[in-house]
Amino acid sequence: MTADQTFVIAGASLAGAKAAEALREEGFDGRVVLIGAEDERPYERPPLSKEYLRGEVGREKVYVHEEGFYAEHDIELRLGRTAVGLDHASRELALDDGQRLRYDRLLLATGARPRRLSIPGADLDGVLYLRDVEDSDLLRERLDRGGAVVVVGAGWIGAEVAASARQRGLEVTVLDPLAVPLERVLGPEVGGVYRDLHADHGTRLLLGTGVAAFEGGAAVERVRTSDGRVLDCDFVVVGVGAEPRSELAAGAGLEVQDGIVVDALLRTGAPEVFAAGDVANAHHPFYGEGIRVEHWGNALEQGPAAARGMLGRTEPYERLPYFFSDQYDAGMEYTGLARAWDRVVFRGDPASREFIAFYMLEDRVVAGINVNVWDVTDPIQRLIRGRDAVDDRRLADADVPLEQLAPAEGSPA
Ligand SMILES: Cc1cc2nc3c(=O)[nH]c(=O)nc-3n(C[C@H](O)[C@H](O)[C@H](O)COP(=O)(O)OP(=O)(O)OC[C@H]3O[C@@H](n4cnc5c(N)ncnc54)[C@H](O)[C@@H]3O)c2cc1C
Repeated sequence: MTADQTFVIAGASLAGAKAAEALREEGFDGRVVLIGAEDERPYERPPLSKEYLRGEVGREKVYVHEEGFYAEHDIELRLGRTAVGLDHASRELALDDGQRLRYDRLLLATGARPRRLSIPGADLDGVLYLRDVEDSDLLRERLDRGGAVVVVGAGWIGAEVAASARQRGLEVTVLDPLAVPLERVLGPEVGGVYRDLHADHGTRLLLGTGVAAFEGGAAVERVRTSDGRVLDCDFVVVGVGAEPRSELAAGAGLEVQDGIVVDALLRTGAPEVFAAGDVANAHHPFYGEGIRVEHWGNALEQGPAAARGMLGRTEPYERLPYFFSDQYDAGMEYTGLARAWDRVVFRGDPASREFIAFYMLEDRVVAGINVNVWDVTDPIQRLIRGRDAVDDRRLADADVPLEQLAPAEGSPA
């Protein structure tokens, strides 16, 4: 009997909305309450640094569901409401309007927030961050006005915002203490491809350089770099990473360590409380340890997986990490997780920006990136999962079909 049960989801974005949808799809006929701190119904964030930011698509393109979806599926969507306290002994979630919601199962899908800089001038007007649709609207207004922007951080958000700003004709300078953009995840070789891509589009890259201070009157007018340079600007965008919004779990005494710690069924230490999406540090059976994945594909799949867990299913979540990015005319997908690798094997010429790169550890593929090459995620996943020894020359040889190196189950090897 589930009809008299209440399942509450805190966080109404991709993971939360997809979990609510999955509960109904799986036949849950109890009460579903989806609580979101933002005023907007659940939407997807990837367009906020890309086509939505550039003004190429409108709001209607970013939503996870049609407007009527939640009412039609009897999902109580409470927007502009923040969950402020969790008591898992009494199974109650406190909201910021003083209400206490009793739940039978709770999903924490509270995502992440941008990491903030605390340097002189950090509070000046015009020092912007990007996470929510409102941030993207503010930033879009700045792009409309044109001028010079300094982007602090050449990670995914910084690199995508820089590309969008250049595409809108602004003068763009990107600062990063590492040697190439995206170096932490992609390493020097593939990061170098992105350095050249941005440079070719007229972005000024100041690499190996951090930010020391923002200066100006009420609004930022200059950026002082850690190596003593002074950059005039009209505004700044800071993209220096995100941190999980795990305070509800921490306040309730649940284990938090770079996110809310959950097992492979996405359960916290309190058996009725689950976590999914950017906020979850989930034990991954393939890696044998907890991983926190801050990507769209993970929120999309982990939300529904948590919903199934809330319904008592016992299938572990074991999808390999996957993400995508679009910068200028370079679209890419990345599959796997390369925390360490000893070389990168290219299939295709990286300078042509149409290639696959395999991250190798000893004789195995641990991750792969495909840039402007499509429909290769499945074989790359099989290569990683197989953990088989693969020959570098065959990996690099575009005449050897990937399917031959990583045959699908049931297909001739
Ligand atoms: C600008 C941008 C571009 C991106 N581009 C890509 C991309 O190209 N490819 C890719 O793979 N990934 C991309 N991502 C990452 C992807 O969007 C995230 O992984 C995804 O949004 C995570 O979804 P989530 O539901 O777990 O969390 P979030 O999207 O962070 O949503 C959490 C929600 O919970 C709400 N909330 C938080 N605390 C509370 C509370 N106490 N009570 C109620 N509500 C609360 C928040 O307001 C928020 O709406 C991008 C992210 C950003 C910001």
